[in-house]
Amino acid sequence: MNYKKSNLVKNGLLIIIGICLSISCEENEKITKIIDDKAIADENQTSDWLAYGRTHNERRFSPLEDINVNNVADLKVDWFLDLPNDVGLVSTPLVVNGVLYFTGTMNIIRAVETTTGKQIWEFDPKVRDAIKGKQQIGWAHSRGISFYEGKIFTATWDGRLIGIDAKTGKEIWTAVTFDPNRSLNITGAPKAFKGKVLIGNGGSEAGPARGFVTCYDAETGKKLWEFYVVPGNPADGFENEAMEMAAKTWNGEWWKNGGGGNAWHGFTYDEELDVLYFGTGNGGPWNPRIRSPQVDDNLFLCSVVAVKPDTGEYLWHYQTTPGEAWDYNSTMDIVLADLKINGEDIKAILHAPKNGFFYVINRKTGKLISAEPFTEVTWASHIDLKTGKPVLVDGARYDKGPIDIAPDAWGGHSWHAMAYSPQTGYVYIPTLHSAAKYSDKGVVYEGWQSKEFSGGIGVGLSPADKQFSNHPASLQAIDPVTQKQVWSIPQKDFWNAGILTTGGNLVLQGRSDGKLLAYNAKTGEIVWTYDVGLGISAPPITYKINGRQYISLLAGFGGGYARGGIDSYNLGWSYRTHTRRLITFSLEGTATMPVLPPRHFPKPIVDANFKIDEEKASKGMNEYWKCFGCHGDNMFSGGMAPDLRASPIPLIKETLTAVVREGALNAMGMPSFPDMTNDQVENLMHFSRKRAVDTMPDYEKSIKDNITEQ
Ligand code: CA
Repeated sequence: MNYKKSNLVKNGLLIIIGICLSISCEENEKITKIIDDKAIADENQTSDWLAYGRTHNERRFSPLEDINVNNVADLKVDWFLDLPNDVGLVSTPLVVNGVLYFTGTMNIIRAVETTTGKQIWEFDPKVRDAIKGKQQIGWAHSRGISFYEGKIFTATWDGRLIGIDAKTGKEIWTAVTFDPNRSLNITGAPKAFKGKVLIGNGGSEAGPARGFVTCYDAETGKKLWEFYVVPGNPADGFENEAMEMAAKTWNGEWWKNGGGGNAWHGFTYDEELDVLYFGTGNGGPWNPRIRSPQVDDNLFLCSVVAVKPDTGEYLWHYQTTPGEAWDYNSTMDIVLADLKINGEDIKAILHAPKNGFFYVINRKTGKLISAEPFTEVTWASHIDLKTGKPVLVDGARYDKGPIDIAPDAWGGHSWHAMAYSPQTGYVYIPTLHSAAKYSDKGVVYEGWQSKEFSGGIGVGLSPADKQFSNHPASLQAIDPVTQKQVWSIPQKDFWNAGILTTGGNLVLQGRSDGKLLAYNAKTGEIVWTYDVGLGISAPPITYKINGRQYISLLAGFGGGYARGGIDSYNLGWSYRTHTRRLITFSLEGTATMPVLPPRHFPKPIVDANFKIDEEKASKGMNEYWKCFGCHGDNMFSGGMAPDLRASPIPLIKETLTAVVREGALNAMGMPSFPDMTNDQVENLMHFSRKRAVDTMPDYEKSIKDNITEQ
């Protein structure tokens, strides 16, 4: 490993040189490691947690074994930090040279002491101001930051990539990664490697998006290269040969709706092979017959793409879902593992995208080794290992009428981190089991057009007639060599958090019901449970400082599903009721954490004096699409924003107008919609009152069920 002496005190000998006077000498006594690729790739280093997936291999496995399956029952809270202004917390903290860095709601980054939680600095990129006045969905989230040679990198929802001095928390450079007037967004952690930083973006449902990733110089923020995921209009010429090749798999005028493929999450740098991989997103729109009428593969949608890290030059791709039709992003984690399969040493990629198949891919060649379903899969019968392509079930693309499809658009696995333990040899996948009915009934193909901030998907979605599983989620261990499930723990609630696995034979995972659990990594036996008192959506990390192993976790229900809907509402994590926290555990911990309030179900306000106009309410339902991304499906809030049925604001038209149109609550994070007419505001008001009345029985049931459950 590479060490730099940041101090000038060595072996009791004080060396004074002129430079000491011009730089800060506060950090004396401390040896500061230079965090370069060698450091980030080192699997044996355990004092820090240097990158999103711990190392460049993205395994989320730490060899630490001080906390292990035999003593984890003694795990206690060591310290905690209350985060009263945060909402959704989904990110992986980093620990570098004994400092813990994390990104909270609205990309606010904090540096805190690893052994006390005491704040060192805070960096606020003012995302609220940057998005003011724009419709943004679930805009509060970020999954992480990255660190390279003394700098922290964050990417904001509104598209800025920022390099920050890790010591001072001061901005060094900012790069604007897309036109802020586009309906794109960033929720992912940038990938820092080889003196560069890579970032992509999301938004294929919000407008005509053509996915791309961009690479910047880590030192200066200068743009180095860009790679488009799907081809543009051939009349404009192709950017490279890869785009020319990809264009052969499209037809019609796909570029008018962008095509999609947004790369918003899985970025992996292979330090050993010096290759960069990224996962790509779903089609824009989802309906393939709008996108490209003679349905074809549509490269590079739903793929793992390998490029040269210095130039972005295409190397190979593997497409998990050709002719994508269901929002089956392949943006999920790209985990690197060395496997022995049939006696052969394989440098493998492990990948569990939304489409429900778990893939083992040879990362030297891009060739598929194996693919088996890890959840209920009804859209394809299997993956043909000869062609590497899925064999579709008749009518799966809803071309023969409405059809129940599993997985649904939440996927068999979303961005919640999976983990791989070289010790057990298993991958651990936070799995979802859910189906939906897909239909193109009523879709007008002629002239279908995606527009900025009002995109659309070109598909009708409704609840499936029946679910294919009797539980909505599970945690499972799979052997990637044999593709056999080793163990599986069914879970009662949807949307559970990402995984940490350790040399102590442990698997740790938080759940949306507020419990943090430790499992025996070999058997799946539950060996420890701790009630955090608030839904968990972020994965734990572990590190060792001064001989003590710590486990840190951000607690704060978040992500797309947390916006709401009846099931999410029923978890009871209502807006600002439960203080968000950064919690750190150790075997020696003695902290007492105040208990959070019990689950809370906002009660709809029924105003007997308010006469609901059914026609206005019905029109208001159409206006509500601007609101559902934060306030929840069917107006059931999941805790990301106030439940509008229970809020007094929509009761008075002047107040509602001030908030919705004039931005009275911009400072609280509520965007404004200046173009809304008086009638539209009034319609929204009637819709909110109708939902309050209609859902009173649901509220009463939630209260009753919760009491029964206790
Ligand atoms: Ca999507």
